[in-house]
Amino acid sequence: MESGKKPFGQLLKDFGLITDEDIEEALAHQKETGQKLGEALVELGRITGGDIEWVLSKQLDIPFIIVDKDTADLELLQKFPKDFLMVNRIIPMFETDDEVAIATDDPQNTEVFAKIEEKFAKRVTISAANGDAIDALLSKLLKQEGSPEVQSILEKQFERLQETCFYRLDVFIKNDSITINAFGFGIMKNIYQAELGPDENFTRDDFFAALDTMGMGFLYEEYGGGQGEFFSIYPMAEEFKPQAAPAVLGVFGLAIPEETTFTGLGVAGLENVYISHGPVDGYDFIAVRGYDGRSEQIIYTIDSAPVEFLNCYVKVYIPKMCPSCGGAGCPECKHLGLLFKLMDGIFSFNDIMTTLKQV
Ligand SMILES: [Zn+2]
Repeated sequence: MESGKKPFGQLLKDFGLITDEDIEEALAHQKETGQKLGEALVELGRITGGDIEWVLSKQLDIPFIIVDKDTADLELLQKFPKDFLMVNRIIPMFETDDEVAIATDDPQNTEVFAKIEEKFAKRVTISAANGDAIDALLSKLLKQEGSPEVQSILEKQFERLQETCFYRLDVFIKNDSITINAFGFGIMKNIYQAELGPDENFTRDDFFAALDTMGMGFLYEEYGGGQGEFFSIYPMAEEFKPQAAPAVLGVFGLAIPEETTFTGLGVAGLENVYISHGPVDGYDFIAVRGYDGRSEQIIYTIDSAPVEFLNCYVKVYIPKMCPSCGGAGCPECKHLGLLFKLMDGIFSFNDIMTTLKQV
């Protein structure tokens, strides 16, 4: 990094962003606070963080990039200690046979780049980027990797919910507690409840990150208002081809083919617009309650299916009270209080009701 030798204050002055007086003032401030010169100038309101990054990238003739979720190479990221990336604000971008590419908000951080060169025995190429954007992306990615607790909760519950009628999880996160309810076939079942200590704090993003890590596609809805966070997750299974259409599903791991409409659940009077979240491909729109003339494409949940339907493809687990525990919960029913019988084929709503009475 030859060009990194020019004093930083001089660079800013060359670009007409500050005066000598600004530098003097910043140097005095710097003595009190121990900050870098740039930080002092930002704190004094003479320049912005963006000015610094831009000037550096211009002067050093390196690209200035806009950080987004695709900036980081996740595999390469794993090869760095988390703290190293956070402290030095470095996003590993990609690696080739002879090159490691990174984005940083401090392109003059030559000692650190030398360490990377030594570690990989490769040339380091640098792009400049906004420091706040780097921070935001890193904390998201590194947290994603580090939410084993949420992942453990979800894995246990998903295991329990296999081959049941529960296709939706409602998650309530408050300051001091987490509640997870499973819903399906008109049944709401509390499946997880925990008090949170003062140091414990979970967010919606922790859940989404855990699902991503597990490779579980999902749809979600979230609800505003009130205290804490409240959202619903619809875990997705592999795609499937309905034998007929429309289809009625009531199974854990809703599997819906691409290009389908996912019709409404009357939750809390909301518009039933579902928001897709990666890695579920093909669901950039998922829409609306009710019949709109596209019935061939509609996949109903068992709870939103029209009661008069005939000859639908139905894949539903029919619940019945667990005979061993009478609904109180026992090992046989995985403490759900219910056992399930699968209906899979072409049926009418009446067929489902008849089966429900029989089981
Ligand atoms: Zn039981």
